Amino acid sequence: MMTTPRTTLTRSLRKPSFFLAFLIVCSAFWSPCFLRAQATTPSPKLSVHWEELTASDFREGIHRSQGTCLLPFGILEKHGPHLPLGTDLLDVRYAALHAAEQEYAVVFPEYYFGQIAEARHEPGTMAYSRNLQLALLQETTDEMARNGCKKILIVNGHGGNDSLLPFFAQTQLDKPHDYVVYVFDERTPQHGGPAKKTKIDMHAGESETSKMMISRPDLVHQDRAASESGADQARQKIPEDVYTGIWWYMRFPNHYSGDGSAATHELGEYQMNWWIESVVKAIRAVKGDDVSLKLQNEFYEKSAHPLDTQP
Ligand SMILES: [Zn+2]
Repeated sequence: MMTTPRTTLTRSLRKPSFFLAFLIVCSAFWSPCFLRAQATTPSPKLSVHWEELTASDFREGIHRSQGTCLLPFGILEKHGPHLPLGTDLLDVRYAALHAAEQEYAVVFPEYYFGQIAEARHEPGTMAYSRNLQLALLQETTDEMARNGCKKILIVNGHGGNDSLLPFFAQTQLDKPHDYVVYVFDERTPQHGGPAKKTKIDMHAGESETSKMMISRPDLVHQDRAASESGADQARQKIPEDVYTGIWWYMRFPNHYSGDGSAATHELGEYQMNWWIESVVKAIRAVKGDDVSLKLQNEFYEKSAHPLDTQP
């Protein structure tokens, strides 16, 4: 019979004491604990931009990307009479950043220190010397790797780099590196999508102008696209079947190849989506590659004593 009142009493006593304890614990620890949890738990949405990450978020980004980092490579050069100097830089960053959002990778900031000697006669061109291009790129990838980017995917946005980048990748075999350089050098699908209206389309033409309509439509001055000729002028005859660096200036002296007035938003959307998807596939392939670094290490070891190499 005493049970009930005692229980009631106990309950009535326990309730306030429990709440009191709860309040004391809350006031003493809840707030700092909550803040501490906020500070150490990585934000679920981690920026893909290297320069936007805090130092500790950068560590998390390298972990999340499995050491895969993108180096979108642009240039500053004339793009016909109607597109901005940074067209290649703006486009390649648009594609790389959107790809990294889908397949997480840390994306290096603006980089535009490539091969563009052939446009030095046009305003706004930044043409760094040959030695500096290679030295800067090497130090950049070395520093990226020192910060955990053991797989560096250079996404090329500029046609004039198409000899520089494979050469750079090949010269990674000159001495040991603890990382792998990959180059992705596609920008335009060979087929599919809306039918194209022009045949010559190498620089600031239908494709490039269309893609710019997606990445930065505010910078496209399509009304000016016909104010210069983007035709192949083949002004003088130079030997065929041999390569010479002046060929581009001979054929396209206005630094314009194609016709930007033929560009459309639809073509740009198709090509940009293709580009983004292609970079996503490349990131996945690079993440899944556990062969290249092993082979590199084997190669470096053997190249230290070539006379011992078995045939
Ligand atoms: Zn371009």
